This record gives sequence, C-alpha cells and structure tokens, in this order.
Amino acid sequence: MSGEQRLRMAMLADTARFRPDDPDELVEAAFACPICLHADRVRREAALDSYDPWCECHCPACDERWRVYLAPQQALRLSVLHH
Ligand SMILES: [Zn+2]
Repeated sequence: MSGEQRLRMAMLADTARFRPDDPDELVEAAFACPICLHADRVRREAALDSYDPWCECHCPACDERWRVYLAPQQALRLSVLHH
C-alpha cells in the first residue's frame, strides 16, 4: 500500500475533531468535505444512538462519501447542532 493510499483511507474514516463546547461553526467544520473543504453543502446522516456513534457524510459537489466517528460527547453535541 502506498503512502498516498494510506492517507486517503485515513481521510475516509476520520475521527471528529471538535470539542463538545466548541461553537456550531467549528462543529460544522469537522464535517467539511476533504476535497473541496466546504462544510455548508455536506449532507450528514448520523447514527448517533449506536454504541459507536458515527456520521456518514456526502458532498454532492464532489460526489465524495466519508464517515466520521464520534465520541459520545461529540455525538451529543452534534444532536443539538442547528440546521
Ligand atoms: Zn466536496
């Protein structure tokens, strides 16, 4: 496996990088598209009730899908995020 492939896999199954007390903008930014870096058009489908919460993301502009794993506190934070 090349280093580039490893990097790509790491991007496609990321762990969310925000703190539960971060403002909404930073929480949104944690789900930004890895290609175009836009967060506003990303569609999120979250499975926050599962034992290992995650959020599946889809950027319609790039047709890119990726999954972000969440700590329980992050899942709670995401569930109260504005829409
Ligand atoms: Zn994109």
